[in-house]
Amino acid sequence: MAEHESLEFGKADFVLLDNVSLEEFMANLKLRFEKGRIYTYIGEVVVSVNPYRAMNIYGRDTIEQYKGRELYERPPHLFAIADAAYKAMKRRNKDTCIVISGESGAGKTEASKYIMQYIAAITNPGQRAEVERVKNMLLKSNCVLEAFGNAKTNRNDNSSRFGKYMDINFDFKGDPIGGHINNYLLEKSRVIFQQEGERSFHSFYQMVKGGPESLLRSLHVSKDPTAFNYIKVGGHIKSTIDDGGDFKAVADAMKVIGFTADELQTVYKVLATILHLGNLTFGVDGDTTLIENSKVVAVIGDLLATKEENVEKALLYRTVATGRDVIDKQHTAQEASYGRDALAKAMYERMFCWIVGRINDVIEVKNYDAKVHGKNTVIGVLDIYGFEIFQNNSFEQFCINYCNEKLQQLFIQLVLRQEQEEYQREGIPWKHIDFFNNQIIVDLVELQHKGIFSVLDEACMNVGKVTDKVFLQGLNSKLANHAHYTSRKVHKSLEFDRDFRVRHYAGNVVYSVVGFIDKNKDTLFQDFKRLLYNSSNPVLKVMWPEGKLKITEVTKRPLTAATIFKNSMIALVENLACKEPYYVRCIKPNDVKSPLLFEHERCRHQVEYLGLLENVRVRRAGFANRQEYPRFLQRYKMISEFTWPNHDLPSEKEAVKKLLQGCGFEQDVAYGKTKVFIRTPRTLFCLEEQRTEM
Ligand code: ATP
Ligand code: MG
Repeated sequence: MAEHESLEFGKADFVLLDNVSLEEFMANLKLRFEKGRIYTYIGEVVVSVNPYRAMNIYGRDTIEQYKGRELYERPPHLFAIADAAYKAMKRRNKDTCIVISGESGAGKTEASKYIMQYIAAITNPGQRAEVERVKNMLLKSNCVLEAFGNAKTNRNDNSSRFGKYMDINFDFKGDPIGGHINNYLLEKSRVIFQQEGERSFHSFYQMVKGGPESLLRSLHVSKDPTAFNYIKVGGHIKSTIDDGGDFKAVADAMKVIGFTADELQTVYKVLATILHLGNLTFGVDGDTTLIENSKVVAVIGDLLATKEENVEKALLYRTVATGRDVIDKQHTAQEASYGRDALAKAMYERMFCWIVGRINDVIEVKNYDAKVHGKNTVIGVLDIYGFEIFQNNSFEQFCINYCNEKLQQLFIQLVLRQEQEEYQREGIPWKHIDFFNNQIIVDLVELQHKGIFSVLDEACMNVGKVTDKVFLQGLNSKLANHAHYTSRKVHKSLEFDRDFRVRHYAGNVVYSVVGFIDKNKDTLFQDFKRLLYNSSNPVLKVMWPEGKLKITEVTKRPLTAATIFKNSMIALVENLACKEPYYVRCIKPNDVKSPLLFEHERCRHQVEYLGLLENVRVRRAGFANRQEYPRFLQRYKMISEFTWPNHDLPSEKEAVKKLLQGCGFEQDVAYGKTKVFIRTPRTLFCLEEQRTEM
């Protein structure tokens, strides 16, 4: 329950709606958006609508207003949620997490940055140098990760193309002493291809446009991004983004974080290598496959600190072990192009993970002695891709949507569990509430032997006939009767031999199986791994440890992309489930980045699939508000003769009882061990009114 704003701004908490209906919910959301109130609560959940304009609500003065306050004391804000998570961590020694969800462009990344800024601003009153260092690193890491992991898409000029979970560790004083970043499934296909109107990762344009002459000369890179096939595909190189300026900012941030000059150089060399790879073309001469522009190979050899002929060989041949013999098998031109693209994608992905690893090296907590100082507690911030439905949905969308199913499942469990646990702790009876449980869809994807991922992995292991079609046939025969799976047999609009449909909690999505097998196997020829491992550039070498293995030593089949992703999601959810969760649900008001437009249908759909209405119902079925006795008394004691200016009752709990009885609210409240629970919002409203009238 939030502040007492004038009703002209609508209800600050959806729990206060007169009727919980979609119409009323939408009307309130729209009214608040139009009045510039972008945040609204559902109890302790923040619903945020992207304002698409600079708001003057994140400054130092606002931070001061929220510091140490309770949610309902101030207008709804991200800062209030950040403060609540921080207080739970500090006062109750709880690990907490803030889960930010919503679709692309809804404002997740911006929200995560404001939350981090808030936490940085309210901590370290003693100005300890080490804490300042850690805070600086944590904030600086954002700009580096965005440079390498974000790109302009048709939905968002700065779209995160990876999932991110960041832990911030706090010491017994409540000051940040370190952190750790986990990254999930970078969309590496973007390295070689972009849709019309989209760009590759910012890092490429930053280097090409902002890199100093001498650097570019050493990399054999011209200042013209259209000279490189891989980054001009989307046809949208021009944009409002200041790539040149960002180059410097990112390089400075990397230096502050502790990347050495050699490491930075290697990063640029990898970027340049990828750009050059994109310009390589293959041809045939009789039986021989050849590289048409061999000068480029020399440049790549130079950048990778290896011999030109090694590069050429890795691009044109594949070493295979047949029994005891090891032979070089020549690629066809098509295979060679495939290998080149796979190399470009893999080099970028490896570098990205390596950058995250290097940041972790410097922010990780060191030398913290729990015996001396007590437990080190954590606030985790999750900024992960939202549910996606595109014209053409492939393996990536499938993984992303599965991730959202997992998070929705967690939301269901935790929101219910959290309420339930609090009532139990406080000794108050709890009434169970039902709502759609999406576990069935999670199972459809991840169940061993039966789930879609398993069928995919099986199809990949087939010898011989490994095609997307075989995979689809496997799905259709195993899952035909599943309530959330639809095959062409059932639905004629699906393309035969290509599509299947999943009924997600957020809606139906048709997936095309084209490319599933390939993306799942994620093959990179061993020859490339050896090439990079054998580079005389030590920084590059550490990115490719498995290149150490000789051809005859490589026996284990690498895990598939689906299995890796599934495992990382299961681990993520386990990690979140043991923390006290806070939620930010972001909504994108329109598709044209307008600060004025509230597209009703677009927003309604998001409200529905985020399950916000159900969230309000659960919240209202229980108690809308709860407050600790001392805090409650302090706030309302002036409205009762029994408590003002002081009470003579044996405990604060008794005093609160007396106060509420006196006001006639006895029927609407319950008394827990440490908190008073108020069932309907109206009661709190009345209390607030009486308070302001005093
Ligand atoms: P994706 O899933 O594509 O990464 P996202 O949910 O992270 O999307 P953001 O990048 O946070 O979306 O936001 C998109 C854009 O919307 C921002 O670049 C910014 O222009 C605008 N925006 C988002 N939140 C705010 C805000 N609180 N104030 C002003 N502008 C905002
Ligand atoms: Mg983002």
